[in-house]
Amino acid sequence: MKVDWLIVGAGFTGLVLAERIASQLDEKVLVVERRNHIGGNAYDHYDENGIMVHRYGPHLFHTNSDKVWRYLSQFTDWHPYYHRVLALVDGKKVPVPFNLNSLYAVFTPGYASKLEGLLLNHYGFGSKVPILKLRQEASGELHCLTEYIYEKVFYGYNLKQWGLTPEELGPSVTGRVPVHVSRDDRYFQDRYQAIPKHGYTEMLQRMANHSNIKILLNTDYQEIEGEIKFDGMVYTGLIDEFFNYMYGELPYRSLQFEFGYHSVDTYQEVAQVNYPNEQSYTRISEYKHITGQRAYGTTVSIEYPLAYRRGQNLPYYPVPREENRKRYNLYLSEAESLDNRVLFAGRLADYKYYNMDQAVARALGVFEKQIAGGKRS
Ligand code: FAD
Ligand code: UDP
Repeated sequence: MKVDWLIVGAGFTGLVLAERIASQLDEKVLVVERRNHIGGNAYDHYDENGIMVHRYGPHLFHTNSDKVWRYLSQFTDWHPYYHRVLALVDGKKVPVPFNLNSLYAVFTPGYASKLEGLLLNHYGFGSKVPILKLRQEASGELHCLTEYIYEKVFYGYNLKQWGLTPEELGPSVTGRVPVHVSRDDRYFQDRYQAIPKHGYTEMLQRMANHSNIKILLNTDYQEIEGEIKFDGMVYTGLIDEFFNYMYGELPYRSLQFEFGYHSVDTYQEVAQVNYPNEQSYTRISEYKHITGQRAYGTTVSIEYPLAYRRGQNLPYYPVPREENRKRYNLYLSEAESLDNRVLFAGRLADYKYYNMDQAVARALGVFEKQIAGGKRS
């Protein structure tokens, strides 16, 4: 069999590239995917009770990129949705990211108002301050507040989610959820926030519905390696696996999901409740809040983090630490030595903690610069 392009992985990255190559270059693409569905970790589907769920945990689309938004909007209408999260702290449900409203949820009105004044004086209304930065800077009563937030919202959550303290992990991860000196308790502040009206899988399926694109599910790249001839290849799987772990394994965090159906209209106040402390899980997500689906009953998922073990569970999160970056760079040099015969892109191949919009932006960039731009030849 001969195709113009072989793409390994039918997640966001693989399917954006397949769509661009098929529609813009009129070239034939074969996508191989080892799972039994497209969509990678963004896969959603109706469960046995007719509730739309996200198989691999809650996926909230948010972006500031006009380009990414316009691109995806060709394939879907949108259901507007602003994500709101509460965290269980000392028996109270507290808005996260921690913000001025959270102060009033945990402290007496008088003390909350005093702390609000201090935060406004130091940082100004509307500022967003990562917890590790606050910890370095805060003194006096702000120091006490910072320690409180660090202990109650971040420390335990990080130990569970990553098996590491916030310091061991570095600022990029906890910096995703900074303290907000405002009353805006939306989880994201991006310009565009919405869910594909009929789901991620449907949107990605529409991208792949092109006569130049064929998808082989349940097919590992290793099974077809050498069987298929192609002019170019894009690999969106694990970069260390591609090179047979020649420099050792890159670590990942995995998750175990426990889905449960409940015969009630809604199970919890908001789509996501975080459990930073006592429980062994990190969060419970309720999908009806996200999708806006009206149905009898509701489905939630509970997330239990654990280490990734090859062959036993799935690699969900790259672990952004310096030592891992160094190991990844060794693989990157190998990838570069292939002289663009194989292009690497995506959360696993780039070993980067991409959100969906970043995965789309990366794929569009690879298409423009390395494929359509003709640098391959
Ligand atoms: P993936 O989705 O991982 O797709 C890679 C595909 O390649 C997979 O389907 C895999 O099976 C396949 N593959 C790998 N190796 C092989 C092989 N050898 N042969 C064949 N197939 C192979 N992003 C957001 O923007 N908002 C969110 O709210 C959000 N929540 C998330 C929650 C969780 C729990 C997780 C894990 C991620 C979340 N993300 C979120 C991130 C989002 O899932 C990723 O940005 C996106 O899925 C990356 O797409 P990708 O195609 O690069 O990778
Ligand atoms: N985080 C935390 N407590 C929370 C929420 C987030 O400590 O209640 C930290 C934690 O390190 C987490 C990171 O912020 O891994 C990023 O959170 P996000 O919700 O973006 O994680 P994702 O949805 O990617 O799992």
